[in-house]
Amino acid sequence: MPEGPETHYIADRLNELLAGQPLTEVRFSLPELKKFEKSLKGHSITDVEARGKALLTGFDNGLTLYTHSQLLGYWDFQHKTPPESPEGLPRVYLATRSAAAALHIAPKVEMWKTQNLAAHPFLAKLGPDILDPEVTADDFTARVHSAPFSRRKLAVLLLQQEFAAGMGNYLRSEVLYEARLAPLRTGISLGAKEAQALADALLAVARRSYRSKFKGALPASSKDYLAQTAKTFRFKVFEREGYACPSCDGKIVMERLASRRLYWCPHCQR
Ligand SMILES: [Zn+2]
Repeated sequence: MPEGPETHYIADRLNELLAGQPLTEVRFSLPELKKFEKSLKGHSITDVEARGKALLTGFDNGLTLYTHSQLLGYWDFQHKTPPESPEGLPRVYLATRSAAAALHIAPKVEMWKTQNLAAHPFLAKLGPDILDPEVTADDFTARVHSAPFSRRKLAVLLLQQEFAAGMGNYLRSEVLYEARLAPLRTGISLGAKEAQALADALLAVARRSYRSKFKGALPASSKDYLAQTAKTFRFKVFEREGYACPSCDGKIVMERLASRRLYWCPHCQR
């Protein structure tokens, strides 16, 4: 699943491809969205914004499309004519004269009035976004010591979008390693310096990953963005079980925590 940095790449890509140009074709596979196909034609996308792992596609008629890809959804950025049959139709198809993008499989696709978005149940629950330039480390030092987060294990907490929006599985391993914290510690057990290290790592690792994005040819689909991240961002511990820790003579180990693979160095992380 794309994490915060990859969701931001997708938003950047959709903005480059589609924003500011009149839409020549709009298709939705969900019956409740069909009525928007005609009314959006001729209007333009004003901005595509990543919020955590959700994407908000704003239109110049006061509507915003909310999409969340979850595990399997992906964007195809190639200009293809959408199939006519309802079964083959992507969840979302948006085209201008020069470009097109299609969202496949995503389980969450909803149209909202832009002015009502603050009431969206998923968006309203999101914690500070690790890639929002306005968010600072102080937002997280206080948060990790506060209810309801302080008693949760860090391995669990760092996947929870209500704690830190945009976090995901590779970021969890890399953030804990950067902060030198063991995954089964809880927020309440952290001293002031440890809480600061965690807060700094949450922002630094995510922002470094985002900045490391592809320099070469752009992928044809968002499925390739995670593979790109693995190549360009260079994980220190994630998927490096059995390799030497970059900081000590110990070996990286893998454990399943909160049902996901977590990689860490038991020597460096305390
Ligand atoms: Zn180590």
